[in-house]
Amino acid sequence: MTEPSGGPAGGAFAEAAPPLDAGPTEADWTAAVAAVRDLPADGRVLLICHVNPDGDALGSMLGFGLGLRRLGVRRMQATFPGPPEVPEPFQELPGLDLLVPATEAYPDPDLVICFDAASGSRLGELVDRLETARAALVLDHHASNTHFGRINLVDPHAAATSVVAEGLLGRLGIELDAGIAECLYVALSTDTGSFRFEATTPAVHELAARLLATGIRPGDISRRVFDTRPFGAVRLFGEVLGRARLEPAVAAGHGLVWTYATQDDLARHDQRPYVLEPLIDSVRCTAEADVSCVVKETTTGDWAVSMRSKGAVDVSRVAVALGGGGHRFAAGFTGSGTLDEVVGRIRAELDGALTGAGRH
Ligand code: 5GP
Ligand code: MN
Repeated sequence: MTEPSGGPAGGAFAEAAPPLDAGPTEADWTAAVAAVRDLPADGRVLLICHVNPDGDALGSMLGFGLGLRRLGVRRMQATFPGPPEVPEPFQELPGLDLLVPATEAYPDPDLVICFDAASGSRLGELVDRLETARAALVLDHHASNTHFGRINLVDPHAAATSVVAEGLLGRLGIELDAGIAECLYVALSTDTGSFRFEATTPAVHELAARLLATGIRPGDISRRVFDTRPFGAVRLFGEVLGRARLEPAVAAGHGLVWTYATQDDLARHDQRPYVLEPLIDSVRCTAEADVSCVVKETTTGDWAVSMRSKGAVDVSRVAVALGGGGHRFAAGFTGSGTLDEVVGRIRAELDGALTGAGRH
């Protein structure tokens, strides 16, 4: 990507209806700062992130929550839809004490802030808070974001939602401390694939430098987040990778590599579903395929699909066509049916998908 690292040069000269991918305007930032500053003294803040939260969802939410705490906000909860289970790699994040199960979340908070969700459908049973809250703020970086908040800070050029979160913390005058920094660092390093993806701009490294300057330990954090898994997961990965299939003709010859994991696979190795998340990284390194997929059975007949591309195919188009969303290089959706049906739909979309010079 070749965008400048700063924000878009809209400002006072921005058109009345800027394109959705232009990023937040100064008016958006001002409205977001006001939404926080206008909280009543005992105002209740509810922080939400997307279902099956990843490092960016949890890290940007908890880092921002710790920042609000520094600002003096006392009544605050953080939550996400579904079972209140934090994946093992994130179980030492600072700020976890803010978490409550979705069933206990304030029904009508003074302010709701939503992190890393491209649409309301990623918020499950919590989506109604966008209506019941007095103010609703969305922080995100997905190009497919539907701007479902009343105030939207959506920057598709940001490498992670944590970049947007840090922008708002800065505008609120909140200084980074080691707790905030660790959360934001986990978010930034997970969403940039440890600073390897195209979105790793100079601004990303400058932010990482500011975070590291608080004294956090990147070696310890990376070992915990990326390089630790139970032995059962290691053996499960071996099995799932051993059945990967390469289909070189798919996607107009750009190639597809894919594999799958069932509930039974997880049960046999006594593993929780989130251990499957890093699997896509071992599949996508296949030299002969531009597109990679891991198809994960969530409940019987329902599959969560992770897709990655090396650039020839815009997988977000495929995911959106199949009811999901994401980015050009990383996207996903949930589908129902048999494994063959779900993979057949992916193949059909890939064969029909525009290749080459799509938008980001
Ligand atoms: P992952 O494969 O890591 O779960 O997700 C990759 C990207 O696709 C993320 O940006 C994520 O937000 C998006 N994504 C994954 N699954 C879904 C889904 O079911 N719906 C939507 N809208 N986006 C998804
Ligand atoms: Mn993200």
